[in-house]
Amino acid sequence: MKPITLRFINVHIFAYTGKMTMQIRVDPDICEGHGLCAIDAPGIFALGDDGIATAIDTPVSSEVEILVRAAAKGCPAAAIILSE
Ligand code: SF4
Repeated sequence: MKPITLRFINVHIFAYTGKMTMQIRVDPDICEGHGLCAIDAPGIFALGDDGIATAIDTPVSSEVEILVRAAAKGCPAAAIILSE
């Protein structure tokens, strides 16, 4: 029997504690730049130089979701769009 040589093996290990499914978006046409979102969920939302909020464009963990939901609920302009 001929031996088999494995030359390329890709192993990806993902280690996180929560499910990462929520995507966050701020509608720049609706955002009024209050900055409350950045206070409610620091590190997730930030105000840009133009005074409009942006959100990180990666899914957030379930541990952070509660902060994001609070920010979305507290946004006076309802500019935060959550999708799961
Ligand atoms: S709270 Fe709402 S309106 Fe205010 S900066 Fe954040 S996304 Fe924009």
